[in-house]
Amino acid sequence: MSAGTEHTTQSGPECPSCGEPWLRGTNLPGRYRCLHCLHRFELRSECPHCGAHSTIARMSDTANVICRNCGGSMLQPI
Ligand SMILES: [Zn+2]
Ligand SMILES: [Zn+2]
Repeated sequence: MSAGTEHTTQSGPECPSCGEPWLRGTNLPGRYRCLHCLHRFELRSECPHCGAHSTIARMSDTANVICRNCGGSMLQPI
């Protein structure tokens, strides 16, 4: 084990479960998995917080997991 603090410039969307920025897309479109807590999430087309609909243009774009209306996460645990 190294005593140094590992720093990465690759910060993804924050995991709704553990809060760590380790959310990564999977092979399935609209599915994400947290590399930190290994929970899986599905990107909803409807915001679970405010109910606003979102047009999912690019699945690989991590910005799409954030609701443009309320700023909440569009991810639901699966
Ligand atoms: Zn997590
Ligand atoms: Zn919303």
